[in-house]
Amino acid sequence: MQIISFHPKLPSSRQRLAGLGEAMRRHRAWIIGLQWLVVLAYAILLIGPAMLPVPDETAHVFTNLTVFAQFAFWGIWWPFVLLSMVLLGRVWCGVLCPEGALTEFASRWSLNRPIPRWLRWGGWPFVAFAGTTIYGQLISVYQYPKAVLVVLGGSTIAAVIMGLLYAREKRVWCRYMCPVNGVFGLLAKLAPLHFRADEAAWKASLGTRTPAVNCAPLLPLRTLDSASDCHSCGRCSGHRNAIQLEGRLPNSEILGQGRQDANLWQSLLLIFGMIGLAMGAFEWSASPWLIHTKQYLAEWLIERDILWPFNDSAPWWLLTHYPELNDSFSWLDGAVLLGYMLGNMLVLGGIVTGLLMLATRILGAGRTVFHHLALSLVPLAGCGLFVGLTATTVTLLKAEHVPLFWVSPTRAILLATATLWTLYLGWRICSQYSNTLTRCTLAWLCLTLACGVIDLGWITWFWLW
Ligand code: SF4
Repeated sequence: MQIISFHPKLPSSRQRLAGLGEAMRRHRAWIIGLQWLVVLAYAILLIGPAMLPVPDETAHVFTNLTVFAQFAFWGIWWPFVLLSMVLLGRVWCGVLCPEGALTEFASRWSLNRPIPRWLRWGGWPFVAFAGTTIYGQLISVYQYPKAVLVVLGGSTIAAVIMGLLYAREKRVWCRYMCPVNGVFGLLAKLAPLHFRADEAAWKASLGTRTPAVNCAPLLPLRTLDSASDCHSCGRCSGHRNAIQLEGRLPNSEILGQGRQDANLWQSLLLIFGMIGLAMGAFEWSASPWLIHTKQYLAEWLIERDILWPFNDSAPWWLLTHYPELNDSFSWLDGAVLLGYMLGNMLVLGGIVTGLLMLATRILGAGRTVFHHLALSLVPLAGCGLFVGLTATTVTLLKAEHVPLFWVSPTRAILLATATLWTLYLGWRICSQYSNTLTRCTLAWLCLTLACGVIDLGWITWFWLW
């Protein structure tokens, strides 16, 4: 199969990209080898620390496996995987992800059952992301290795089980149930690279015998255009002389395909999950509001002689429970934390939704335009996740006495850039649907206000508390 034969005079940068996609296809064995190396590193970082005693404050990144794993998972791995989605698309999923590799490997021996309807439900990306985020905070996943083992290890076991049940040599887990699938899909919309099928070349190839391609996340190759669901594994590169790795403008998918792709669950994940819930989950430990609420409720309960909520003996897999480190959540702590995260999700998500609805109304448009406009928030939501996750990186670097003078300005620059990016996308989307400049400007001002409210949340956490 010769990938670039249908474009004999491609400019060299296009040729190079197409060649890179081809190299991924040809060197599949190397990719699989790399995946197993990552699986090995993942297993060591996941299981090793859970078998060791919880370290005290004197432990350091390079002298203690638990602190090293904490830094690797939450300080480097997760934030930079998120960043890679925006820079490269879902290469992480197709080339490096240990969970994807394991579920696909297990599915070689799958019972090959058909994928049930409940599994195809569009709400899973939101529900799985919200559930994992909330549960992770309740058991302090950023701090304790047993909590990491339950959250990440539980997800990996579920991925393997799903691989053993449904379809053969596929990634049903990644496509439907992975807790970060929806988030990755949204961020990858901004990627400047994607595998794309050329419709004319595909049609021209009809009638010729072509070996089938195993697209593990089960995508329809003929219409391949979006980077959102494609794992960029490279296996389909050159298929029918029609598919190749290509560059594109980072805004092109949201501006060009946003209306067709937009849907309710995607908007919920973006506005209530990645923005509202995630902010609550990152910032609760610094929030004076949470402390005041807890104090108020504690006094209220004591006055009424209701004392069971102060009991802190819940198991560690339900609520944080490390009495030897003086860190145990009572039922009251758990309830207030849960309420804080859900409250943040509903209040912030509600305000942003209200402002976007107003913008849509001003544009005189319907629900799909609302969802399209919501997609303009992807840069700001993604940046929020990045700066929120790297707060753990910063805490760990502080413990290592690394100078941190650059952190505040870097955060400010990242948030300002992401806000401007969102506003630019918003302006372009508003102008697609408005027939007058006044409507367009008013609708865009609603989006600007929504960005202001989101930024205020980050400013409050990073600079005011
Ligand atoms: S469409 Fe499927 S086979 Fe092709 S690169 Fe994407 S995930 Fe791989």
